[in-house]
Amino acid sequence: MRTSIATVSLSGSLTEKLTAASRAGFDGVEIFENDLLASPLTPEDIRARCADLGLSIDLYQPMRDIEAVPPEEFARNLRRARHKFELMSRLGADTVLVCSSVSPLAEDDDALAAAQLSQLAQLAQDFGIRVAYEALAWGRHVNTYDHAWRIVEAAGHPALGTCLDSFHILARGSDPKDLEGLADIPGEKIFFLQLADAPLMAMDVLQWSRHYRCFPGQGGLDVTGLLRHVIAAGYRGPLSLEVFNDVFRQAEAGPTAVDAHRSLLVLKEAAGLAALPAPVVPTGAAFVELVTADAEPASALLGALGFARTARHRSKPVDLWQQGEARVLVNTGPAARRHGTSLAAVGLESPDPAGAARRAESLLAPVLPRRRAPGDAPLDAVAAPDGTELFFVATDPVAAEGEPELPDWRADFVDVPHQDATPHGVTRIDHLALTQPWHEFDEAVLFHRSVLGLHAQESVDVADPYGLHRSRAVSNADGSVRIALGVGPAPTDDGARAQHIALATDDVVATARAFLAAGGRLLSLPANYHDDLAARYAFADGELETYRELSILYDRDAHGEFRHCYTHTVGRVFFELVQRDGGYRGYGARNAPVRLAAQHAAR
Ligand code: MG
Ligand code: MG
Repeated sequence: MRTSIATVSLSGSLTEKLTAASRAGFDGVEIFENDLLASPLTPEDIRARCADLGLSIDLYQPMRDIEAVPPEEFARNLRRARHKFELMSRLGADTVLVCSSVSPLAEDDDALAAAQLSQLAQLAQDFGIRVAYEALAWGRHVNTYDHAWRIVEAAGHPALGTCLDSFHILARGSDPKDLEGLADIPGEKIFFLQLADAPLMAMDVLQWSRHYRCFPGQGGLDVTGLLRHVIAAGYRGPLSLEVFNDVFRQAEAGPTAVDAHRSLLVLKEAAGLAALPAPVVPTGAAFVELVTADAEPASALLGALGFARTARHRSKPVDLWQQGEARVLVNTGPAARRHGTSLAAVGLESPDPAGAARRAESLLAPVLPRRRAPGDAPLDAVAAPDGTELFFVATDPVAAEGEPELPDWRADFVDVPHQDATPHGVTRIDHLALTQPWHEFDEAVLFHRSVLGLHAQESVDVADPYGLHRSRAVSNADGSVRIALGVGPAPTDDGARAQHIALATDDVVATARAFLAAGGRLLSLPANYHDDLAARYAFADGELETYRELSILYDRDAHGEFRHCYTHTVGRVFFELVQRDGGYRGYGARNAPVRLAAQHAAR
């Protein structure tokens, strides 16, 4: 099915919006009237621009407060409509959206509404235009899709149909029974389908709609279920996104359009309308890669944590540091970024690296060159929305009999003589916490869910002394891949987004002591924090004193316990040592405000 997007969903001038929609791969657009009014382009220019960009103009919108009004008012409305139909003829748009009236002049009279909409449709037909009548969730008398359809049916005009909008329908409640009536609408009378999701919020529905709509899959409405009903009814028109959102209004149009198109691809797949390469869920974190202009601070920190520098890249200034199954690459090559030390890449273990890359590419993830240098193992890699490079590496590159061997990233590294540093008990990478650009948070969650097949937990809000930190974790089923995606004020020196690498240990007290003995510095916590712990939990003798001494934080959930502490920050990056016991599933969110305050204070 064809895809379309309302220009109101993107930021910028009309020209910028059209360009972004075309580049992201949309087939058409809805022209939002205010975008046209504010544009220096004539309707003929816009028509030509769309044609050049390969975009059809699927809808002109909106026309408001038309129906069920006194005769003299309706005469004025018809005059206004005639002007708009002339304009649409110049644009080459053949469908207009009419929203149910919110005017105080509108009467609660379905027969009058049907008669006047029929007259409007007759005028539209003279211009070769169709009228799609939509129930606004806050319409004065008509605010449900079935009510709008009854009026359209009563009018019985061939140029009058209905427009279904997932937000207006789903925002009114979640009873699946309410959707059953969709099957009663003949498919050819559904002139248009607008799709939007929204996070579940208890608030005035008009404010909710104007500010918090988001792309399908990014909120809590069952857009997939609704789409299935509409398809079952026989609708074959475009799937069109109409999203009013304060964040997208400010974000760059290009990336937003890609995010938007990805959401439609995922929706089509979920509704059984399109087949994409199946997700290949990663099975572990093979490595993380830090880039830095100066390897010394990161190397000192890794050394104190008990990592050993075990290998060096054949051709590039990249060191491999290892402890247990935790591997950190330190790259001082030209990739070193503006922001000092940062986390540039993650190696995800995959049972099918090529399949994982095909899935990512089908969902519009930028594919990175397979070989970064001649002689390197040809690895499949894509860029996440925040620019982090994701490498898909073979879980087990040793080929079975008769199978081609998969490229092994480790083959690019040559062992270097190293003192077997006494390991400090780190076993593997527990999770990564990646702060996202403020306008890409919802996109990042959808990306990791849909591209990597990870499961997203609920979003949590955490108080930061200088703002609000939101966090949403994505993980695979057994927790061997965990990524906490966040957005919030930066506790780093240069205002850059912080990133952290959490390392698993079976004994955080022993690991923390070994780290301190090796010259490491832990983030110190206020005494008030541990006083509060004493009030909340009964600890064994001396346990709390140890946590106080080592600045260890503590949390508990229905499954188990969590003990964790933090290193100082190098560039954008810091490490966390974590001990999970008894199946604890969280990330210590309850402790995050104290940690964030301590990091701000430490600057
Ligand atoms: Mg709408
Ligand atoms: Mg953490």
